[in-house]
Amino acid sequence: MIRKIYDEELVNGQCYQNLHYLCKNIGPRLSGSANAQKAIEWGKKLMESYGFDHVFLQEVMVPHWTRGQKEQGVIIDGNARIPVAIAALGMSVSTPVDGITADVIEVHSLKELDTLGEAAIKGKIVFFNRPFDPRFIETLRAYGTAGDQRFAGPAAAAKYGAAGVIVRSLTETLDNYPHTGATGYKKDGLNIPAAAISTMGANQLSSLLKQDKNHKLKFYFKQNCRLLPDTLSYNVVAELKGTENPNKFITVGGHLDSWDLAEGAHDDGTGIMQSVEVLRILKTMGYRPKNTIRAVFFINEENGDKGGLKYAELAAQNKEEHIAAIETDLGGFTPRGFGFEGVSDATLQNINKQWQKLFEPYGSGQLVAGGGGSDIGPLKAKSKSVVLIGYLPDSQRYFDVHHSANDVFENVNKRELELGAASMAALIYLIDQHGLN
Ligand SMILES: [Zn+2]
Repeated sequence: MIRKIYDEELVNGQCYQNLHYLCKNIGPRLSGSANAQKAIEWGKKLMESYGFDHVFLQEVMVPHWTRGQKEQGVIIDGNARIPVAIAALGMSVSTPVDGITADVIEVHSLKELDTLGEAAIKGKIVFFNRPFDPRFIETLRAYGTAGDQRFAGPAAAAKYGAAGVIVRSLTETLDNYPHTGATGYKKDGLNIPAAAISTMGANQLSSLLKQDKNHKLKFYFKQNCRLLPDTLSYNVVAELKGTENPNKFITVGGHLDSWDLAEGAHDDGTGIMQSVEVLRILKTMGYRPKNTIRAVFFINEENGDKGGLKYAELAAQNKEEHIAAIETDLGGFTPRGFGFEGVSDATLQNINKQWQKLFEPYGSGQLVAGGGGSDIGPLKAKSKSVVLIGYLPDSQRYFDVHHSANDVFENVNKRELELGAASMAALIYLIDQHGLN
């Protein structure tokens, strides 16, 4: 059966061409945008075209943030005006219309900010410049540890009276593209404008600061992003109905929304196109699942998680029992395996004993502890028994493109994408047949 799943995908796979349509005919699709709505309508039509048992939308209110005009960032070093590439962080407020010019203070951690205190920070632009730690083999771990600068840095700097924040892009690669991503303000805090700076820009700013013995250097930036009223949006859901347990669910999903700097190819066009492909493979093969199998396009993962929260809320309300939920949101790269959250050590050992050899020939035999994902995470709070599974592709190239202008279709490999879809279809088949305990 698993061999047949891979054969179907590698010979007749459609996720690559679907991804092409999503990227090139729709493109960026941040929550609340017209493009997000276009993608929702197209996604629903695509699911209907495959003749799945049930296709429907779940209503959910989402934030609507817009970037506005292209940002400007300039290092002012004496008479020199050196432009650098920046992009407003998602959910950031704008600068005043004329921008901000201020002294820069470079820091490497939130803790350092606390040590410096208000006297050193007030009125300045705080420049968070801690790079990815290259020693992590899984790049997601490096992202996780550097990420606090972007998620929490602006709010922390605001507390000490900073005028604005510039954050080194969360990527290992050295290039001239800013990588955006959401920042979280404190509800009761002062909101100050925050932007990501390219890694090359960050290195340049840092080295000029080191030479700036007389503290003359200043930074100028200007952005005019806005947070508009919340907008009605949707998760898109397709089902193959269970023949034995129609009210037990195995879900596979990714997120439909994407940042506005590119096409959201790897983040997360690949994930949603793989999810619908899983259902297509199983249906095309004439497989009748015991449990209901769902593909979900979650909305608003990037700047609010409202889609994931709504999905869990409705699952609880409708008394749906979720056996497992798989999230694919780490790029469409070569599959390596799966991470399991919510299983005992003994169960994980058993999964490895029974299934590792089945995935090994296809290169996705890493069945490890830890997994989940932000869209399926909320299911855990509503259901104790659900197993959350993170699809684990090779992680080395993801952060080269993540949240930047380089996240385009051309950077996705057809076979890598298809192997991922097949590996998820295989896992779902095994869970459907044998359960997870
Ligand atoms: Zn994502």
